[in-house]
Amino acid sequence: MAADLQPLSTFGLPARADQVLIIDHPEQLEQLPDAEGPELILGGGSNTVFLGDFHGRILLSRLQGLAFEGLQGTDQVRVRAAAGESWHGLVRRCLDQGLHGIENLALIPGSVGAAPIQNIGAYGVELDQVFESLTAWDRLQRRWVDLDRNDCAFGYRDSRFKSIEPGRFFITEVRLSLSRRFNPSLSYASLRDALAANGIERPTPRQLVATILRLRRHRLPDPARLANAGSFFKNPIVSAEQADQALKRWPDLPHWPLPNQQIKLAAGAMIERLGFKGKRLGGVGVYANHALVLVHHGGASGSQLQDLIERIRRAVTEAFGVILEPEPLLIGSLVKND
Ligand code: NAP
Repeated sequence: MAADLQPLSTFGLPARADQVLIIDHPEQLEQLPDAEGPELILGGGSNTVFLGDFHGRILLSRLQGLAFEGLQGTDQVRVRAAAGESWHGLVRRCLDQGLHGIENLALIPGSVGAAPIQNIGAYGVELDQVFESLTAWDRLQRRWVDLDRNDCAFGYRDSRFKSIEPGRFFITEVRLSLSRRFNPSLSYASLRDALAANGIERPTPRQLVATILRLRRHRLPDPARLANAGSFFKNPIVSAEQADQALKRWPDLPHWPLPNQQIKLAAGAMIERLGFKGKRLGGVGVYANHALVLVHHGGASGSQLQDLIERIRRAVTEAFGVILEPEPLLIGSLVKND
């Protein structure tokens, strides 16, 4: 039976799927009949944008459960989290348990199972720094697999599950290794500045999380009030020569050298400099407090969003000579599903 996708995606464009199946027990995966057409796995819906209808079957990950296992003789604790748990709920539970390492990732929307796909990151911390392993149903070989960090091929907001073999694995459980010792990661100036504004140099774990929450709430729209999918574009990672070209014309463009000789350019700053911040195009637009976030004010269609995406990408390529890649998975008219 066709199902409404609008409430299942935080960007909230009107779209329908042929079928939506809720997965709340891992064994269901073993018994699923083969899909007749395309199939898509959906968690919290914060990183998937439906530009049009999906003519296929959607598997909705709703697996629940959380467990903590102390590792003898160490400060480390293994956290086992079912894929359908909320990521931010997990951060809070770990904070309550005195477990550290993911404070900077507080308030990232979405489910635990989506975290490795995107290798979520914020304020200088990325999931792979605390990731131990995961369990997934391999839909290709119809068997259960445990995958460690190497198997997952993590990259910058990227992994094997996103760019190498999308859709092959249904992640059911993620295991993290967190520490009882608190060693805050304060490499981002925006974070240090926000702490300093409250007279804090060495934050407690709760102060750190409270500061991240304040920063994110100020900079990012709450999807419950203004529909969005978080950062809409990845920061482009380019060669030193490409970066030089862009910086010749825009010398104060924020950029960071990476260990592999490449340079990360700030996509939000590019979009802002081209005057898109706060602009609207019909029912969609660029958020007034953060140029990297596209928002849905209501009543928009997928083609309006597609139009806005193309305008931004074209303008950035013309001005900076780099191609912006969308961060969320775009489903519908940009992607051929059938
Ligand atoms: P920000 O701290 O001023 O960061 C702006 C941009 O500069 C970010 O894209 C960040 O890259 C980069 N950056 C800042 N300091 C850096 C450093 N020391 N080394 C390397 N790169 C640095 O403010 P913001 O835009 O609100 O972002 C804050 C954090 O939240 C960022 O990590 C951002 O990725 C994260 N965030 C994620 C989403 C999402 O939906 N995925 C949405 C909003 C914010 P990185 O993005 O690579 O960190």
